[in-house]
Amino acid sequence: MKILIVNAGSSSLKYQLMDTASESTLAKGLVERIGIDGSKLTQCVNEENYVQQKNMKNHVEACKFMIEALTNSEHGVLGSMDEISAVGHRVLHGGEKFTSSAIINEEVIQAIKDNIPLGPLHNPANLMGVIACREVMPKTPMVAVFDTAFHQTMPPKAYLYGVPMDYYHRLRVRRYGFHGTSHLYVSARAAEFLGKKKEDLRIITCHLGNGSSMAAVDHGKCVDTSMGLTPLEGVIMGTRSGNLDPAVMQYIMNNDNLTADEMLDILNKKSGLLGVSGISSDMRDVDRAADEGDPNALVARQMLDMGIKKYIAAYAAVMGGVDVIVFTAGIGENGIELRARVMENMEFLGAKIDKEKNKVKGVERDISASDSKVKVLIIPTNEEIVIARDTVRLVSEAALAK
Ligand code: ADP
Repeated sequence: MKILIVNAGSSSLKYQLMDTASESTLAKGLVERIGIDGSKLTQCVNEENYVQQKNMKNHVEACKFMIEALTNSEHGVLGSMDEISAVGHRVLHGGEKFTSSAIINEEVIQAIKDNIPLGPLHNPANLMGVIACREVMPKTPMVAVFDTAFHQTMPPKAYLYGVPMDYYHRLRVRRYGFHGTSHLYVSARAAEFLGKKKEDLRIITCHLGNGSSMAAVDHGKCVDTSMGLTPLEGVIMGTRSGNLDPAVMQYIMNNDNLTADEMLDILNKKSGLLGVSGISSDMRDVDRAADEGDPNALVARQMLDMGIKKYIAAYAAVMGGVDVIVFTAGIGENGIELRARVMENMEFLGAKIDKEKNKVKGVERDISASDSKVKVLIIPTNEEIVIARDTVRLVSEAALAK
């Protein structure tokens, strides 16, 4: 089957066409600056880029343009749009309603809308992508894959905050967690890689990218994760602060006369590695500066190392031990030094890495020392595969049920 995977942002549309039999990517593309002057589409097929500029007023036009590129006789990979068996949409927030992916119907669309207050930056954009694709491909079945779904197995003691219960009941204030498709993929893949069942393992997954989150996956089920109501909580990230005493906000807001929105903007966009280092949100820049002795870059890096260590130890305690620690995403897959620093002095947990085996980037690898009781793995994440597999499964089940 050929499955189109769509990730719509407020002014962008990322897409990937996958052949699910071989789980290979046929084409990958990005439509940028939708609704802004100078919009363009970049499509990559067999490592060759095809770039086309055209003003696109909205996501429907972007979606039409994407189909034109995919079916282009010279640069495309499809004879016609009908070759696309189904579309899988990445959706940020499924709230408490979705514990797994779902076939898109009116009810699911309403649920994505209902969750806009919880995901105000992403859900409206994701929804625009869904609506646009439905308009352009009315006969093609579509599936929504939620970033929050994998974490819905957390028990109340993990997802509730220590605030009056009324806020949970009335406003749905709780931990939801994000990067669910990535935590799901790498935890399942880690078990497969070790030739074991995920139901027999206690796994800690460290998704470390521009946004970072950690998860405790106990016998196949997520029991805790570091991101919360929004992706702001947890370890320090590229531009996001991660954990902080909530009273810090009131203190800064009162002093500097800021609104709540302005404060949150600072915590989301100007904090984290960028805010502390004053140099960059990109780990490579921070690393370079820290290696050259910049004290702010150094402390930003130390904060990240320590944050990850604390979550690993906490999650091991929550699960009564840990069998596997997985590193994934940009920093997790490529950060040789970061992995070495995080895993230093973790022998008390039974975890030790082999410094030589650790000297790799972006490949699936067991980097544990031979005497380490805990397996430490690098598993490159592949969220697209999860989306494609879920889409095929749900569409096939729906076809059988007819
Ligand atoms: P996103 O969350 O946007 O998907 P990625 O998973 O691509 O982000 O991760 C981006 C991060 O990975 C950046 O901070 C980048 O610096 C970092 N990264 C990429 N390559 C390396 C590397 N070789 N060493 C350390 N960090 C790296």
